[in-house]
Amino acid sequence: MTPTRPCIIEHPADILASYDAAITENPANAPLTPSNRKKRSVGTHTKYWKPGRTLKIAIADFGDELVQAVKDGINTWQPHVNLHFHFIELPDNDELYEGDIRINLSPLSDGTGSSHIGTDALNARPHHTTMTLGTDHTSSYFKYTVIHEFGHALGLMHEHQHPDANIPWNKEKTYTLYKLKFGWSKALVDANLFPVDRQSQQSYTPYDRHSVMHYPVSSDYTLGGWEQTLNTRLSAADIAFAQKIYPK
Ligand SMILES: [Zn+2]
Repeated sequence: MTPTRPCIIEHPADILASYDAAITENPANAPLTPSNRKKRSVGTHTKYWKPGRTLKIAIADFGDELVQAVKDGINTWQPHVNLHFHFIELPDNDELYEGDIRINLSPLSDGTGSSHIGTDALNARPHHTTMTLGTDHTSSYFKYTVIHEFGHALGLMHEHQHPDANIPWNKEKTYTLYKLKFGWSKALVDANLFPVDRQSQQSYTPYDRHSVMHYPVSSDYTLGGWEQTLNTRLSAADIAFAQKIYPK
């Protein structure tokens, strides 16, 4: 059975700190054409790590088998990015502060999980998890969950929110069903499902409905029977994009 609760992106509490962390880490995160009116064009920058760097990834140790399953999912991205993954297994959740990315598990939450976007993890409070995996590791969807959440940790956003997605959402029904099924507010649905506005200061790759960063979309939420099944693997466009943002 597919993960029943959708993934949630952790948005930064402080957008100026988010901007500073992103640009300090990797100047290429700056907007393409900075605004003349404002010193900082917040909200239009990307959050990718500096290519070539070593990412310290701390995993709460819930047993060898589970830790290995997390590593396997993360390493799916490895051949396509110019980053070195240094895994740290921690015997005690209280020690999670050691990693740039800090992963905990919450299988009882019965869902996909949550994650900060790329360099926003640098601003997460010490000792706090930056990524949560909400699927039991024995689930056949565990690897998908890791791949999707780690995509966020690499700085990727949700593909179904691409400005050109044009998914024929039945918005009112979606609000109602998400409230009923998951207790989500309208604002949470807006923030995680519906398309984001096009930013003139960002470049976009074409919309890819087969991206691992795309939610599965049931026809219950759309008009005209539009649907998209769960994409469990990296698409060709996912791979091309990872190579583009983390060039060798
Ligand atoms: Zn997600």
